[in-house]
Amino acid sequence: MEVILAKRAGFCFGVKRATQMAFEAAGKDHKTTFTLGPIIHSPQVVQKLEDMGVGVVKDLSGVQDGTVIIRSHGVLASEMEEAHHKQLEIVDATCPFVKKAQEYVKYLSADGYSVLVVGDADHPEVQGIVSYGGEKVYVVASGDEVCKLPKMGKMGVVAQTTQSFDNLKSVVTECLRRGGEVRVFNTICDATAVRQQEATELAQQVDCMVVIGGFNSANTRRLTEICTELQPRTHHIETADELNPDWFKGVGRVGVTAGASTPKWIIDDVLARLEDINNSH
Ligand code: SF4
Repeated sequence: MEVILAKRAGFCFGVKRATQMAFEAAGKDHKTTFTLGPIIHSPQVVQKLEDMGVGVVKDLSGVQDGTVIIRSHGVLASEMEEAHHKQLEIVDATCPFVKKAQEYVKYLSADGYSVLVVGDADHPEVQGIVSYGGEKVYVVASGDEVCKLPKMGKMGVVAQTTQSFDNLKSVVTECLRRGGEVRVFNTICDATAVRQQEATELAQQVDCMVVIGGFNSANTRRLTEICTELQPRTHHIETADELNPDWFKGVGRVGVTAGASTPKWIIDDVLARLEDINNSH
């Protein structure tokens, strides 16, 4: 059985950076170190940090001192203020691409623009980005939603980093139809699109796909959906222990990919276990 690993499987730049910063902070001799929300969507990474004494808090209400690590997709502006106000030591692991989106919303709002954030209103990254703006910030999932918005003069547009370019384009097109001034910042990061494109190509070349990543990770679930559409023998797992040898009976080629929050050590474990399965067939 041939095992093919997608080139860009696993950590994206922002998640890698955040994880490194968290482990570095954990290694230091601090009184208390914690992350505000899970650092990334990987229960195994969260558990490893917990084993090193870095717990997760939902909010800062019960926290009076220590070091707070800010997760890769950012937090609310009010939470950042609270951390400063309480004079906590802050390790800001917000991905620089997410930070840019937050800054553009702040800048556009201060300059009198109504701001449209293209994305999923329930996603913490979007809620964080929105919180940096003023009163006139609206989240739209698609171009169709633009016509439901109140009349606006100057419009600014930014996007959740994982949005597709086509969706951003559809929102901008609707804004242009409404007339007036439209200012657009393309804040899309291509890490997600690149992984999806690779998964699409790989799923068509193999007899079975394994997608590795947190069951709570939206980008891993999306990879699984894409692969399942093309290759029904697709399995989403979090760790190597979940691999079932029966899945690979009669399989000539197996493709492996992993979400942007899947650490390398988990991918390596899965590859090693696949080799064992192959040798025992
Ligand atoms: S997907 Fe892009 S924006 Fe999101 S954390 Fe990774 S590098 Fe940053």
